[in-house]
Amino acid sequence: MKILHDIHTHNVFSNCCFDPSATTEAFVKKEEALGMKLFGLSNHIWDERVSGGSYWYKHQTIRKAKEAKRALHSSNPEMKLLFGIESEYYGYKDILGLSVEGAAEFDYALVPFSHLHMRNEVMSDFPEIMEVRARIRSELGEKFPYIPETQLNMMADSLKEADILKIYPELQIDVKSHMQKSIVENFFKLLNNAEFERLSKAVPTVIAHSFAFCGLSGKLKNGYLADLPMDKIAEGYRKAAAMGVAIEINMCEVKGVNIDLANNHLLDIYKIAKAEGCKFTFGTDSHTVKGLEEIKLGDEVAKFMELTPNDIAEFVRYGVEE
Ligand SMILES: [Zn+2]
Ligand SMILES: [Zn+2]
Repeated sequence: MKILHDIHTHNVFSNCCFDPSATTEAFVKKEEALGMKLFGLSNHIWDERVSGGSYWYKHQTIRKAKEAKRALHSSNPEMKLLFGIESEYYGYKDILGLSVEGAAEFDYALVPFSHLHMRNEVMSDFPEIMEVRARIRSELGEKFPYIPETQLNMMADSLKEADILKIYPELQIDVKSHMQKSIVENFFKLLNNAEFERLSKAVPTVIAHSFAFCGLSGKLKNGYLADLPMDKIAEGYRKAAAMGVAIEINMCEVKGVNIDLANNHLLDIYKIAKAEGCKFTFGTDSHTVKGLEEIKLGDEVAKFMELTPNDIAEFVRYGVEE
């Protein structure tokens, strides 16, 4: 089966895109040159109707991102173009960064729960870091008794994790167990989030790069993925399938974890999703024009996972060839 759609892409609108040539027009032209049939733009956007977004999302709002909707144009009548969103789910705070009203602006929504590098939003601080912050807070309180408690909290919380590790280089953090626990919790919190359920009924909804452990090296990711509670994860994917929520196969993550597909534990997880009846979408997660070429890996992954057109989410099945 040939994968001829890519619905996870970021152009210059996303804060993490550093390719100045990555305009909407350049993306569409590149997709045409690659012989693709369906292209979806999915910038990082936080719905301005929802409170609680971080500073990083401050200028990445629907109102601003909509400019690209008008720029999505192809002279090729065979080419289908979709205007999508990579939304956000703050698992730690249980906040979905997209309302159903906001989703009406889009043809589909990608929702990740694994941007674990967003501490105290998607994932809490590591418990060891929390302990150090508490210690710093109380030491500051002893030395500067006239500083109000709220300010002491702000001071202790303002230290970045990297700063704390510089101050306390001997600090031992059990990264693996906290990340594994958080990623599984986030998966279920998202599936049980009432707004997410409403979203899944309103617009084609896809869980983006599930279990991606964002922020870690590929080698670490593969190790962490190897011993997750698979029975529990199967339960989650069963629920996603029943909700009609699709699962994304993300080229950037697959490649990052292990290009040797037979030893790629992310694909082991997606095989569970397949067995539970989930439908899939493919995306490069490209932030550059050249990166769109990575979709070629999709054909190999589809073959390896023995996917048929019936395994592909209906709204992107247009971009699939036997
Ligand atoms: Zn993402
Ligand atoms: Zn992305």
